[in-house]
Amino acid sequence: MRSCQIVEWGEPLRMREYPTPEPRGAEVLVKVAACGVCHTDVHVWHGYFDLGDGERATIESRGVELPFTMGHEVIGEVVALGPDAAGVSVGDKRLVFPWIGCGACRACADDREVDCVSPSPLGTRRHGGYSDHIVVPHARYLVAYGDVPETLACTYACSGLTVYSALRKVMPLADGDTLLVVGAGGVGLNAVNVAPALTGARIVVADIDPGKRRAALDAGAAHVVDNAAADAVEEVKELSGGGVRAAIDFVGGPETVQFGFDSLCRGGAQVVVGLYGGRFRFPLPFLPLHNRTLRGSYVGSLEELEELMALVMAGKIAPLPVTTRPLEEATSVLEDLQRGGKVVGRTVLRP
Ligand SMILES: [Zn+2]
Ligand SMILES: [Zn+2]
Repeated sequence: MRSCQIVEWGEPLRMREYPTPEPRGAEVLVKVAACGVCHTDVHVWHGYFDLGDGERATIESRGVELPFTMGHEVIGEVVALGPDAAGVSVGDKRLVFPWIGCGACRACADDREVDCVSPSPLGTRRHGGYSDHIVVPHARYLVAYGDVPETLACTYACSGLTVYSALRKVMPLADGDTLLVVGAGGVGLNAVNVAPALTGARIVVADIDPGKRRAALDAGAAHVVDNAAADAVEEVKELSGGGVRAAIDFVGGPETVQFGFDSLCRGGAQVVVGLYGGRFRFPLPFLPLHNRTLRGSYVGSLEELEELMALVMAGKIAPLPVTTRPLEEATSVLEDLQRGGKVVGRTVLRP
């Protein structure tokens, strides 16, 4: 097995050889066909998340040891089953649900593994898909994807699922409502593709990058706004007839959260998805006085991924633009993502 690994936090990844693992118990060994590169991987690579005011949450404090294999948008073919594995056969092609919980806590018992008190996702805590093989703990985490091209299908495990789950949290929206999408990188752009499968609401996309605004228009956004412009909130209020019913922030920085929050109408809801980091301050009385909701959304559930893939297989969701690169080039893909502005859609590694 060849894996492209973090050997030192923030240093170039290295290709390393290991014996190909043999699945034990209920485990399933999957030969990786493709693995998407997510912005979260940039944070994992550097070993921390910025909490603002100089505070950091380190990846090491979550129990991750180096060398480590990232990659949580994994797709491939079942090549071996542990003695207790059931539900899939060798040769089956499956998308991997990576957001795996401990299986023992209250949230896991309620099928909310994403809210697990001690999660161990593939690619952020367990070894992931920047490799030619991956061990999946149980066949129930393998989702069918039909005839959808594998380089596209893999992106639904995080980018697509994150979008779908965030959209579900602001539904229902009426046809006359406006949904504001802040940030049109890989994930935000996917929101423009997925939203029409759930709502007829008008979609306005805000991004500071003209190339990404163009991509959002091409994907079907009704309007685009430069959120760095001084009158951006006014513009959104004008476009939406006084404020948007829902905003989803795929950046998650202090300025973008402020922009989204200020753009809401009374009764509006904002969902923060992006992990840019920092701290957000706002006058608390406006939360009750304007009857607003501010909440977060992190990836999504296995059930939501299954719902999403059913919509994808039914042809109801326009594809996200995907660029393919060899696994060996993972470091330069991460560098491109870190610089921002350059990557339109998703970059997918092929081992
Ligand atoms: Zn991700
Ligand atoms: Zn749990």
